Amino acid sequence: MAVIGSGWAGFNAALRAKAHGLKVALIEREQLGGTCLNRGCIPTKTLLQSAKIYTLIKKSRTFGIETASPQINFSEIQARKNKIIQQLRQGMEFMLGGIEFISLEARILSNNTLEIGKRQINAKFMLIATGSKPLELKDIKFDGRKIISSNEILSLEEIPSSLLIIGGGVIGCEFATLFSTLGCQVSIVELMPQLLPGIDKEIAKKLETVFKKKGIEVATNTDAKNLDPSHNDLALLCVGRTCATDGLGLGKLGIKLEKGRIIVDEYLKTSISNIYAAGDCASSTCLAHFAAYQGCIAARNIADPSHLMKSDDSNIPNCIFTDPEIGSVGLTEEEAKNKNMDIRINKFDFLSSGMARILDETEGFIKTISDKKTGEILGASIIGPRATELIGILTVAIQSHLRVSQVADTILAHPTLSEGITSALKEEHGL
Ligand SMILES: Cc1cc2nc3c(=O)[nH]c(=O)nc-3n(C[C@H](O)[C@H](O)[C@H](O)COP(=O)(O)OP(=O)(O)OC[C@H]3O[C@@H](n4cnc5c(N)ncnc54)[C@H](O)[C@@H]3O)c2cc1C
Repeated sequence: MAVIGSGWAGFNAALRAKAHGLKVALIEREQLGGTCLNRGCIPTKTLLQSAKIYTLIKKSRTFGIETASPQINFSEIQARKNKIIQQLRQGMEFMLGGIEFISLEARILSNNTLEIGKRQINAKFMLIATGSKPLELKDIKFDGRKIISSNEILSLEEIPSSLLIIGGGVIGCEFATLFSTLGCQVSIVELMPQLLPGIDKEIAKKLETVFKKKGIEVATNTDAKNLDPSHNDLALLCVGRTCATDGLGLGKLGIKLEKGRIIVDEYLKTSISNIYAAGDCASSTCLAHFAAYQGCIAARNIADPSHLMKSDDSNIPNCIFTDPEIGSVGLTEEEAKNKNMDIRINKFDFLSSGMARILDETEGFIKTISDKKTGEILGASIIGPRATELIGILTVAIQSHLRVSQVADTILAHPTLSEGITSALKEEHGL
């Protein structure tokens, strides 16, 4: 099996295929680890952790600790990020034992042949996992200097004095958190009526309020093409991502695409029966954990066609590492209402949480959506401390079709943030 792309989809697929006994080649034109490790999840969260430490030290007096005024050493922050990427990459390299790793660009010549550099290799099966890349606008293009993408902003040598963020989605809001915490004047422009389109409206509104309190300017319902980006030190254009499928030879081969995205069936098979696709290049959900899940499903389906598994996208948690953090899974209130579902909403405010007070992070709430008749939990959205971890509990609950009563009856430890979940549900359950 030849796997093209070593991001979270391709890497996990290669490991699973090897475990299933296949002979595997993993082909990568850039660095092992793809977007997630080199330009996405890991670098952004590492930088955000430095920002969080800075915030904590600045308010250390709240905890009775006197510190001298903290100083930001941005090159050290960047060095730590690079070191963590390198350490994780080494771990991945180690795990690739037994897999042929080919560090070149691949092009598909026929359903069994690939061109890799000057050589050709044959494969009985192929998995395309070539990921995605930053999207430009018709009127605003990257220039690599003043208007940059999430790729370049990760390796800035200095903190800009002012940053215009075009696109208030997940990537834009995380970079807004990072750079405003580090002292940069940040403004966000978003075309849609709310930040984080697709996320629960109330949660997005809460984040907007917190952002404004921190001095971040937020303009929703605003088209960036009417603005002059040169009024800022730097502009980050992050209006979405597009599939990285050009140059692979897919059109010639007859693999069906829709706006560059590879069309796959529920088993992740493309329109050619021995070629599969997984991750960002074949999905509208651009998340590393979903890419990894799909990579594993594709590898399994290739290795064991007698027990085909479907790719299920109904319960994918979405985590946003802003301050406060956001976690959501399943249906939002708006989605349930649009489907005319009879739902019940339960809430818990972190102001009532002992642990949130101990952490001095009381901003935010937990919101759950359940079926009024059956009590089944259908969705949850959290904004607040450790929301990205807390959402895991509700992800398991929804995946297991648990009812409100089953989660409310569970004893969670005190004093923890997770108690907030049972507190939210207890009222409905009458405990
Ligand atoms: C700034 C940012 C932050 C993010 N944060 C998060 C987060 O916190 N959590 C989360 O879940 N997701 C996050 N994401 C999204 C996540 O990174 C992607 O969903 C995930 O990396 C997709 O994995 P993939 O394997 O499908 O593709 P990719 O990781 O993009 O990997 C594809 C690989 O294929 C290679 N390739 C492409 N064409 C060829 C070719 N012809 N020959 C050889 N190799 C090729 C590329 O070089 C690349 O390495 C973030 C993304 C960005 C940009």
